[in-house]
Order: sequence, then structure tokens, then C-alpha cells
Amino acid sequence: MSMTHTCPNCQTAEMDVFYESERIPVHSCMMLDRREDALAFPTRDLALGFCSACGFVSNVLFDHAVQQYAAGYEEQQSFSPRFRDFQRDMIAGLIQRYDLHDKDIVEIGCGKGDFLVELCEAGNNRGVGIDPACDPDRMSGRGGGRVRFVSELYTDQHADLPCDFLCCRHTLEHIHPTYEFIRLMREVVGDRNDMVVFFEVPTVERVLSEEAFWDIYYEHCSYFSLGSLARVFRANRFDIVELSLDFDDQYLLLVARPTENVTDATLQIEDDLAHLAESVAKFRDGVRKTIDGWRSRLMDYKAEGKRVAVWGSGSKCVSFLCSMGADAQIDAVVDINPFRHGKWLAGVGKQVTAPQTLRDLSPDVVVAMNPIYVDEIRCDLDTLNVSAELLAI
Ligand SMILES: [Zn+2]
Repeated sequence: MSMTHTCPNCQTAEMDVFYESERIPVHSCMMLDRREDALAFPTRDLALGFCSACGFVSNVLFDHAVQQYAAGYEEQQSFSPRFRDFQRDMIAGLIQRYDLHDKDIVEIGCGKGDFLVELCEAGNNRGVGIDPACDPDRMSGRGGGRVRFVSELYTDQHADLPCDFLCCRHTLEHIHPTYEFIRLMREVVGDRNDMVVFFEVPTVERVLSEEAFWDIYYEHCSYFSLGSLARVFRANRFDIVELSLDFDDQYLLLVARPTENVTDATLQIEDDLAHLAESVAKFRDGVRKTIDGWRSRLMDYKAEGKRVAVWGSGSKCVSFLCSMGADAQIDAVVDINPFRHGKWLAGVGKQVTAPQTLRDLSPDVVVAMNPIYVDEIRCDLDTLNVSAELLAI
């Protein structure tokens, strides 16, 4: 690629492209009513670039104009007990550490609002959730009247909302100009020096080290490490209070407070530039082989007459199948989220069904789209009396 691309996270260095994927669906969580619509879903190319100055990874071809978050965007994860436990523990910890009782909470990109409602219920807080894909009806009756939802993109128009705790979970990775966005956050905080901000994003380290091509998709234009996340906050006059990994090291959590006096002091875990550069090089050299390995594995199953089901129909599933062009090798895609049943996956000619349909299919192999759910899925398969071999990506 001859064009140069300035890093949107530090706004200084140039990014080096190390991975490309062509014609991928512009949304992978969008659920379609008809197969034709799913197959005709808009696609764009992706090219991941790495910034060796700040450690950031970004889709240098990203075009936000093709992104429309709206009803039909189905990202809710809280149907899983494993996920609910993770969320409950995190909320209890945040309430305790930041004394979140009778406070004003704003959540940017609240999705279906589970987290905000639970945080407000558990700490008797007041909440405002802002997300163009939120569905106030689904959450009605929860939160005891203390939570309201706004179906809009977050802009500086929301800056004056009363706020003690500003949270933004699994949203920053959908935003391309990350430096500008964190600068906006700092402007929103202004001189409210007691305000705490909490961000959570997937970690790029795991994507790179596991060559997890299924974790790369169009909606995720921005990929953070501990260091690149901390650096963009510090560059915008935040003090990092907490920086850690959670959910089996899949998620990065950052808590920060505003400051006027940023020092050069950094946390040891932020020091990841050399390691990231190595991981990027290894990913660049190995990922094609990993993709080919999965493709030939699925083709072998087909050749042996084995029936294969994918468990989990979210973005990982769409990216997994699209990256390999493998939907023809798959007999079923099931999901425990009832709002997905009967819908078609963008870019993939597959309809999502309930796990109960596996009773009739009687698959030989079930591929779990996240290893963290393997125990939970095994229990569900046992309950269904399905004795398939269970693999995880
Ligand atoms: Zn950079």
C-alpha cells in the first residue's frame, strides 16, 4: 500500500499495514430478516496498520460513513451466566472502590443497558445511557425509574449531563479518531475534578498472539493494548488510576481521573511497544496459515460427512466464517440470545437458530466462538443430549 496513514491515536507517527481482508460486511452484529438482505449486505475492505510509536492498531481504510448503528444491532451478551457473573463482580468492585452510591452515572454506548441498570440498581444511582442502538422498551421496568436511555450517538451536546462516573464499555474500539474522542472526553470532564471515567475495550495482545483473525472485523476499527490505551488518556491530561486485564485477559479496563499535571511516570504494564512490534510481525507471518488451517479442517469434516455447528452468532462468528469463506461447510449456527433466533447473519448465508435445534441436527462437531464459554456450552449440550465433539476457536 503506497498511501501513508497517520496514527489516529497519537496523531504523529505513520502506520505500517500488516493485515488485509477484502469485502467484509460493514456490520457483523446486524441481524437481517431475509437471506437475500444478509447476502447483499454492504462490504468494505480492511487493512490493519500498526503504529510503532504508540502501539496502536487501526483499520486504515475505515469509513465511518458506512456504519449505522440502529435497531437490529444485536450485541447483548448477558444471556450467558458466565458473562453475567463477570459483570456482577465488576459492578460490585466499582461501587466499592469509587463509592458509587446515590451518584450520577453516564454511559456512552450503553447497548441494551444491562450494565447501567445493574450499576444503578446495586448502588441506588441515577443513570443516563446514550446509544443509537439502545432499545428503551427492552429495559422498561428495570432500574426503578432511575435510568433513562437516549437513542443517539454521543456528542458534545450531552456534555452538560450531571455526571460523577462516566463509563464507556466496548465502544471506543468502534471509534476511529481515538485521540479526538478522548480529547472530547477531557473537555466533557472539564474542571469536574472528582469525576471518574471508566473504559473497557478488547485487548489486541490476545488477537495478535493467538492469530485470532475472527476478532478482526469492520466495526472494530481500533485495537488497543494496555500501553496504547493508557498513552492516549495520558496525552489528554488524564491520570491512570487503574489499568488491568479481565475476562480471561480478553478485556482491557482503564479507570482515570482528570489532571492538569501529567507526569512522565508510567505503569510497568504499559511498557509494551517492543513486545507489540514482535507480535505484529509474528501475526503478519503466521495468520494466513492459521486461516488455511481452519478452512481445511472444516473441509475435512465435510468430506468425512460430519455435521458441524457453530455456537455463538456474534461478530466472531461472522468474521470467522467470512475470513474463510466457509459458510458452506457449516450446518448450523446457534445462539442462546432469543433476539437472534430466525435472523440471518450479515455477509453470511446462515440463519441463527436456538440451541434446541441441535437435537434434530445431531452434530458431530460444535465449534464454540469463545473458549470462555466452553464449560457453559458443554452443560447445555449435555442437557440437550447432544454428544458432539466440542472445540473452541
Ligand atoms: Zn500512534
